[in-house]
Amino acid sequence: MSQCSHCLTNVSFMAVLNTINPFKLKCSKCKAPVRIDKVSGSIAVAIILAIMVPVMYLLKDTESYFLQVLLPVALTAEFAYFALIKYGVVKIK
Ligand SMILES: [Zn+2]
Repeated sequence: MSQCSHCLTNVSFMAVLNTINPFKLKCSKCKAPVRIDKVSGSIAVAIILAIMVPVMYLLKDTESYFLQVLLPVALTAEFAYFALIKYGVVKIK
């Protein structure tokens, strides 16, 4: 289980959701920076994007694209990334 090195709180989904930079999270409890390992983080982001981009492209003619495609795809991607961090596939420094 991946934890904040500062306060030992488990990394939360909100911490992943609230960041613009996928390699730099903020602990949702103590706000300390949680740095993601560049190698495993990059691989995870690349794989997630490799799935996300074609899906978004294939569904580009969908009505209300933002609500029906962009939002669910982005949330799924965030959740996948969170799960990879949680189970230690993507490592924390
Ligand atoms: Zn913390």
